[in-house]
Amino acid sequence: MKGKMRCTKCNEKAVISIRSRHRILCEKHFLEYFINTVEQTIRKYSLIKKKDKVLVAVSGGKDSLTLCDVLLKLGYDVSGLYIDLGIERQRYSKESRRKVEKFSSVKGVELNIVDLKKEYGVSVPLLARRSPRSVCSVCGIVKRHEMNRIAFNNNYDVLATGHNLDDEVSVLMSNLLHWNFDLISRQSPRLEGWHPKLSLKVKPLCLLTEKETAMYAITNDIDYMLYDECPFSEGSTSITIKEALNRIEDRSPSTKLYFYTEFLKHRSMFESLHDRSRVSDCEVCGFPTTSKKCAFCRIIERG
Ligand code: AMP
Ligand code: ZN
Ligand code: ZN
Repeated sequence: MKGKMRCTKCNEKAVISIRSRHRILCEKHFLEYFINTVEQTIRKYSLIKKKDKVLVAVSGGKDSLTLCDVLLKLGYDVSGLYIDLGIERQRYSKESRRKVEKFSSVKGVELNIVDLKKEYGVSVPLLARRSPRSVCSVCGIVKRHEMNRIAFNNNYDVLATGHNLDDEVSVLMSNLLHWNFDLISRQSPRLEGWHPKLSLKVKPLCLLTEKETAMYAITNDIDYMLYDECPFSEGSTSITIKEALNRIEDRSPSTKLYFYTEFLKHRSMFESLHDRSRVSDCEVCGFPTTSKKCAFCRIIERG
């Protein structure tokens, strides 16, 4: 961002250049654009209704805290959910929990906390050591299960996560590289709860980039985890894919936005590929599974 850049709307000093949308904006016009984009995303994909009880999964990173902040500004009935995964490396869980608790108390947001140690006597690194799966895979299973459990038990209408455009594009690319039709068919800003225990999941930041959510958090004085990539994700394929996509975007701005929005236009083609044929209810927790016990209950049992 060059020092002399001026807002294309009002000629004030610019804070951000958004090449993919051909915009250079001052703080006021950036915030207006950001909030409008979230509002339009919610409307376009029918993500949240005005009377919904919304549970926002907050990690302590810029995306989910920004999401919570914008939904509050838009007048939604919002509560937070933080899952303490017990990751001690770089004090990751302690620090992120502190950020979430601070944000909730400043904003007066009700916060649900699931502490894996207290709830199940385990941590994600411990579970991963006892499982053939990678840390990231175990962590994903735990987070998904606990998000659904809290949303279901507390009658929330919708579960919102802070996934941004960069996240969505890299997951889409990864799923395409593996031709994982089942996951491709389920990738959407709005995923209907297709089983009684699964809540509706929405991603209102899916058309905004990481750079934009960071700028929103900074200009709104949101205190977030600066290194919001988990210490275990270092060297992971998802980070390599993100880096490759960033290089492409750098060369051809708007590639990501085009790739993702065109996918959304045509994603109904993939819907019939969502394979629910072998799904039954987990005999321990009742959540959907393709075996007797769901992956979460099997992991916890081993832990
Ligand atoms: P990640 O899976 O780390 O890419 O995070 C994607 C989204 O999941 C975040 O934007 C949050 O909404 C949510 N999330 C991640 N970690 C946690 C956590 N420990 N507790 C609650 N929500 C989380
Ligand atoms: Zn301006
Ligand atoms: Zn289960």
